[in-house]
Amino acid sequence: MRSNYEVVIIGGGIIGSSIAYYLAKAQMDVALLDGGAIGDKTTKAAAGMLGAHSECEDDASIFFPFARSSQQAYRELKDELYEISQIDIGYREGGILKLAFDESEKQKLHYLLQQPSVQWLDGHEVKKLETAVADHIVGAAYIKDDVNVIPTQTCQAFAKGAQVFGASIFENTHVYGVQKLNDSYFVKTTKGTIEAKRVVVATGVYSNGLLQDIGVSEQLTPVKGESIVVQTNQPILQHTLFYEKSYIVPRNNGKLVIGATMIEDEWSESISLQSMEDLINTAKAMIPSSSEWKIDGFTSGLRPATFDGQPFIGRHPEDEGIFIACGHFRNGILLAPATAELIRDLMLEKEENKEWLDAFRIDRRQLTKV
Ligand code: FAD
Repeated sequence: MRSNYEVVIIGGGIIGSSIAYYLAKAQMDVALLDGGAIGDKTTKAAAGMLGAHSECEDDASIFFPFARSSQQAYRELKDELYEISQIDIGYREGGILKLAFDESEKQKLHYLLQQPSVQWLDGHEVKKLETAVADHIVGAAYIKDDVNVIPTQTCQAFAKGAQVFGASIFENTHVYGVQKLNDSYFVKTTKGTIEAKRVVVATGVYSNGLLQDIGVSEQLTPVKGESIVVQTNQPILQHTLFYEKSYIVPRNNGKLVIGATMIEDEWSESISLQSMEDLINTAKAMIPSSSEWKIDGFTSGLRPATFDGQPFIGRHPEDEGIFIACGHFRNGILLAPATAELIRDLMLEKEENKEWLDAFRIDRRQLTKV
């Protein structure tokens, strides 16, 4: 292991890996460190929806334009990442059908249906697209642009791509402290100390210890999500189905993901029978014949939640050389490219989007109190 880099990124989930890719592509000298394996924590548990529309709950939200720009970045990234890394990110078109089984559920889709990129389909039209949907379907909001990817492959493609552009990757390298001395940071790891001019903290829900260490008072809380993976012999769905807070996502590898629970403040990744029963019941409400599907496996992961549901992205408030990118909650896969672009632009002092940086700064809670 070299002991000196321009930038050390701590955390090789989707966020750290995408930042490594964008920085290495901009010819920066980067090391990406992970305490375990690349993409093996929360990223591995994600369904992979790029749900810019489906995850946006109101029109005043800064989330939408940011998420939309990230979603659009994937259109080019899917080919670029394949060319550079030879890893297919499993980009799948088709989009999301947000289902309504009665008039009140249709009303709840009202905001979404104001978007020009979202279309209302009546029950007949939904059944034409997806014949297995329950017969009493009233209609659905059709969001063509909310496509999906396979999260682990996407994360690995970013990491491998970063490597091709010259980044070094160190797995099984846990960071337990960051110390500043003159103009340098000393990143203390279980494999020795690395000196860097800049440090990025991208450790997802596991960031609390490091945030404390660098003098940041904000903390992240976990929201556990469990899912069921189903293996199919023939394509059952062309579109992701979304109903209430649950979904069935068809992947390019022939699997379906039925997700996901939302269990607040739970650090254990254990999977309960009750959760599986709830997921199976929601899947049956959407597709009655789903009880015949064969289970391939179960997944569980901890979504990194901040106090207001928006991520922390930007510079440390008092330390120019430390950058923070964590707290992406339900949308880290979706938001990875836009997050990486913001961090790159800040670091290279390019013209950056000030509105987004203000919305995501880590000291925003203190600023709004003044
Ligand atoms: P992680 O993936 O957790 O990566 C952090 C990395 O940091 C880990 O690899 C860890 O080993 C490493 N690390 C931690 N501490 C240290 C340390 N001290 N030293 C070294 N390394 C360290 N998002 C979407 O956009 N679309 C979806 O459809 C979607 N579905 C989801 C479904 C479920 C059930 C869940 C749980 C999440 C879902 N998400 C989805 C959210 C998404 O998974 C997260 O927002 C995203 O994975 C967070 O990525 P991350 O890189 O910040 O964190």
